This record gives sequence, C-alpha cells and structure tokens, in this order.
Amino acid sequence: MAHCQKCGAEVDEMDLYEDYGLKVCEDCKIRATASPSQPCGGERF
Ligand SMILES: [Zn+2]
Repeated sequence: MAHCQKCGAEVDEMDLYEDYGLKVCEDCKIRATASPSQPCGGERF
C-alpha cells in the first residue's frame, strides 16, 4: 500500500498518480485536473 502525498489517503500503488512530482490519489488528481482556470470546451490552442 502507498499513501497519497496530498491528503494522506491509503491507496494501492496502482491508483497513485503523479502530480507535479507528488504521488497523489485519484481524487486529488481529478481535483487538480479539474482546475477552474480551464476555459469552456477545453480547446487546444
Ligand atoms: Zn489524495
């Protein structure tokens, strides 16, 4: 088992994601991805 480095939740290593060098759980990763700074539609440039 591994621990999320953001919220400290115990998760399987398979469910760990890397976020700016931190190993985080899926919840934290989704929260980081769904940042409010993203424009509508999510168009790429
Ligand atoms: Zn977390």
